[in-house]
Amino acid sequence: MAANTSLLSENFLSGLRQVLGVAKSSLSLHEPEFGGNEWAYVKECIDTGWVSSVGKYVDEFELKLAEFTGARHAVAVVNGTAALHIALQIAGVKAGDEVLVPALSFVATANAVSHCGAVPHFVDSSESTLGLDADALASHLEFVAERTAGGLRNKNTGRKIAAIVPMHTFGHPVDMDGLMHVAARFSLPVVEDAAESLGSTYRGSHTGTFGCMGVLSFNGNKIITTGGGGAILTNDPDIARQAKHLTTTAKQPHRWEFVHDAVAYNYRLPNLNAALGCAQLERLPDFLTRKRQLAENYRKTFAHIPGVHFIDEPEGCHSNFWLNAVRLSGASMSVRDALLVVANDAGYQCRPAWALLNKLPMYQDCPKADLSVAEALEASLINLPSSPKLAALLT
Ligand SMILES: *Cc1c(COP(=O)(O)O)cnc(C)c1O
Repeated sequence: MAANTSLLSENFLSGLRQVLGVAKSSLSLHEPEFGGNEWAYVKECIDTGWVSSVGKYVDEFELKLAEFTGARHAVAVVNGTAALHIALQIAGVKAGDEVLVPALSFVATANAVSHCGAVPHFVDSSESTLGLDADALASHLEFVAERTAGGLRNKNTGRKIAAIVPMHTFGHPVDMDGLMHVAARFSLPVVEDAAESLGSTYRGSHTGTFGCMGVLSFNGNKIITTGGGGAILTNDPDIARQAKHLTTTAKQPHRWEFVHDAVAYNYRLPNLNAALGCAQLERLPDFLTRKRQLAENYRKTFAHIPGVHFIDEPEGCHSNFWLNAVRLSGASMSVRDALLVVANDAGYQCRPAWALLNKLPMYQDCPKADLSVAEALEASLINLPSSPKLAALLT
């Protein structure tokens, strides 16, 4: 190990130790916490037999999600990927179209585009938010796109560019003002991937409520969990109706007849999972408080450590700090990997950010913009243990 890499490793490890204490067993990156009404609500589903596609908890979960986020409507579905798939379809994405997505994201963002038969078109991130860079996106579109009667077209591929999917990375809100402005300029719908940002607000409004739709995930590693689950947020009652219809086999309401009016999906969230979700939502304010406390401790500690920068909430934003992260200055992949070895060996489960999506085998031939910021972020970001439980260890 080079001398400055080993100094960086030492500093990084001492920072983790200050915040988390000595790891007696492995401290995981994130884990769910069930300390409230989870057991009671799930038990009630089993006792009453309402475990599946119908039951009061689905309706209640949707109402509570809408109330918490300030969206007019929330439609609960089976997972975040399914939510994105349906949201894109409702936003008008068709087979053969392109959809603008960040290269720095979880694979589900691009997979949902592929599930529509469309092609992800990768764009760069901003250093300050880790999410889509509005200015870079505008310049890229000026360069590659042309307006036609049928909409915006990629001059290089001939395909229609049909939507933008910003993602709020690790719970940090992306520059929604900038992106909504670019979207309006190029007449593109926006579907927000807010899978990581339940509890995060941008200029006072909840993430996922700026675009025509926003999408949440309640996977086991997210800030609250339903085991597996997701939701589509929207302010448009007509979109909400479509989302419900398409995710519940497009069945026309009737007392006994089975008449379906579209090729649709069985993407509904079972009542059993929604029960878990209702109990978890009751805990969310407490999770948010403790995550903020943990972030504060990381922030304070890493402020004194050269070469390691804590990723903080962007200006004007309130992040849920779902996954804390640091950025190593001037880092290469080899430096990043050396630190990952040191941290994981000491029992702190740290992880790099995702491999850029344009490098994955199924996406390597997709259209892309200059991705130099995303490349630098990929080489220098490290996620830190972020369970709300870890805040309790601190004094
Ligand atoms: C978790 C996640 C999803 C999808 O969630 P699932 O519920 O696991 O399908 C989508 N996008 C991002 C950025 C995520 O982190």
